[in-house]
Amino acid sequence: MRLVRTTMCVLLAFCMQIAVAQSEPKLEHFDPNFVDRSVEPCNDFYQFACGKWEAANPIPPDQVAWGTDSRLQLYNETVLREALEAAGEGGAKRSPVDQKIGDYYKACMDEQGINAAGLRDLKPELARIAKIEQKAGLIDEIAHLHMTLPGAPQFSDNQTDAAFFGFGSLQDFDDASKVVAAFDQGGMSLFGRDYYLKDDAKSVELRAKYVAHITKMLTLSGEKPAQAAADARTVLELETAIAKAAMDNVSRRDPKNLNNRMTLEQAQGLAPTLNFKRYVELVRSPAPDHYLVLTPQFFITLEQLLQQHSLEQWKAYLRWQLVHYSAPYLNRDLVDENFNFFRHTLAGAQEQLPRWRRCVRAADRDLGEALGQAYVNRAFPGDSKTAAVELVRAVEAALQQDIDSLDWMAPATKKEAARKLQAIEDKIGYPNKWRDYSSVRIVPNSYLVNIHEATAFEFKRVLSKIGQPVDRSEWLMTPPTINAYYDAQLNTINFPAGILQPPFFSKDMDDAANFGGIGAVIGHEIIHGFDDQGRKFDAAGNLRDWWTTADAKAYDERGECISDQYTQEVPEAGVKQDGKLTQGEDTADNGGTRLALAALEHKLRSDGKQLDAKDQDGWTAQQRFFISYGFSWCTQVRPEAARIRVLTNPHSLARYRVNNVVSNMPEFQQAFSCKKGTPMVRANACRVW
Ligand SMILES: [Zn+2]
Repeated sequence: MRLVRTTMCVLLAFCMQIAVAQSEPKLEHFDPNFVDRSVEPCNDFYQFACGKWEAANPIPPDQVAWGTDSRLQLYNETVLREALEAAGEGGAKRSPVDQKIGDYYKACMDEQGINAAGLRDLKPELARIAKIEQKAGLIDEIAHLHMTLPGAPQFSDNQTDAAFFGFGSLQDFDDASKVVAAFDQGGMSLFGRDYYLKDDAKSVELRAKYVAHITKMLTLSGEKPAQAAADARTVLELETAIAKAAMDNVSRRDPKNLNNRMTLEQAQGLAPTLNFKRYVELVRSPAPDHYLVLTPQFFITLEQLLQQHSLEQWKAYLRWQLVHYSAPYLNRDLVDENFNFFRHTLAGAQEQLPRWRRCVRAADRDLGEALGQAYVNRAFPGDSKTAAVELVRAVEAALQQDIDSLDWMAPATKKEAARKLQAIEDKIGYPNKWRDYSSVRIVPNSYLVNIHEATAFEFKRVLSKIGQPVDRSEWLMTPPTINAYYDAQLNTINFPAGILQPPFFSKDMDDAANFGGIGAVIGHEIIHGFDDQGRKFDAAGNLRDWWTTADAKAYDERGECISDQYTQEVPEAGVKQDGKLTQGEDTADNGGTRLALAALEHKLRSDGKQLDAKDQDGWTAQQRFFISYGFSWCTQVRPEAARIRVLTNPHSLARYRVNNVVSNMPEFQQAFSCKKGTPMVRANACRVW
């Protein structure tokens, strides 16, 4: 991947482009003329599809990555910003929803007021920690932090970031109709285990900078520098021990490893110093049939650590957790230093995101479905939904045909697979029932207090599901989100309105462009129901093995081909990718793209169109499909962000999402007449679905 490390606006044209983009964001539309004709598609298809676009679109200084979907992000956030600003006007005459979203945004944007308040809203929180007199008292503060501060966002799909441990509700693995309570590992502030445990020079350097950062943050929160420096060393020591105790992210991919059913007494036995009975009372958790302890060994080791280290050390750790998770909502010194380490040193950004974008993202996280209605009204007309539903049905039909034609699967397994496919529920655009935020109290003059309120609301909402029938209408992503997901326990695929936009989708684009863009995303999500993880759940969302022994073995062999192929050096990240971590996503990319192409061909045939007819630019429909697929993934990533991604994220980098997929597909080689021996024709091509 070519990396453009622009540290500031060097080219005037580039600066102007960014300035224009921020006042009136233009969506990136698929244009096959963006291909770089100086590159041979059979040698490096990503470069062919993306090279020219990347050269014209360097990463802006406030971004850690920049791709063809980045303008969509800006567009979606601009729509939300307008809704938030409009809701801020009108005073007492406003609707209750407008009061909440308008005042939330106003409090966040009031940088002057926040700076003037200094540590006003943090001090009572620090005082709570100072008052803890024995280790048994730690649990009260843990419960309080869980109820008031959101964990660190993004980058990591497999980690719980809450102080000490995580707690929430989960559908039971064995009976998906039940919602139970679950304890999980947590307690790390860096992006996952490897950041604590790897001993290469870069990792050692980052940890030294981490200690300096903690020192600075604790000093800014009122500690004396010498005390802060000692506390920082303690925090790294404790978090490193916690990281060692945590289950690694590959083991976490196997739900069997997480399915540990216990009573509260049994859970308590793992870590007697943490009074879980008191904890569930404090967070007002309803009592479930049973609890799941996702990572029992973590809690056993945590107990040993609690014994080994002094109360004063744990109080230092709690102060750090408090300051770290509060920092984005406090005064400028704390905001800047938090940016300096987490987004600059660790992720590579050269500048802060403009404040309005940070405030829009926080509002989307905390009051997302209130804001989402405004987004849908503005950006997602009814005929878009109709067109998207048709695409989803077409890709699902392609999987049915694929299952029918598989030569490695016995009829009994095929029947179960078909049953699971038939049972998938498609959720498109936005929820049928919007979340009710009426109990959240939002004030116009304290951002941190609003964060406490919104987090308490969300935590309560999550816990209120325990013991209740499963709510199948719930969404885990807000409408403007540029993403999609498969939910194995609900057996649903979910496409927020935010991704049903250019460059992925437009009702005005031709079929080849839409199937190459959103069609491949749809295929990807459907295949998640049948990847290394998803295949372990049945049509009803229960963890149940529906595979014959021979078919399971055949599946694993095919999966191994994928994980071997994607276990690769990633030079720009300076680390190696673990194909076992990315196997599910890679399987979904490979299978999903094949399904989307099959669905396109079926559609064209039934419309009486020629598959090899050329358009005015000389491309066949197959070629346009692949170019659109490549174009929708074009993304440049800073090396620091690439490192985070490879070490913690189950998704491969964009270049591999394009090149590894097409080089596994005979259809691609046919479309571009690639000869044997060229890089995009693999001798050992992999295929699962
Ligand atoms: Zn995925």
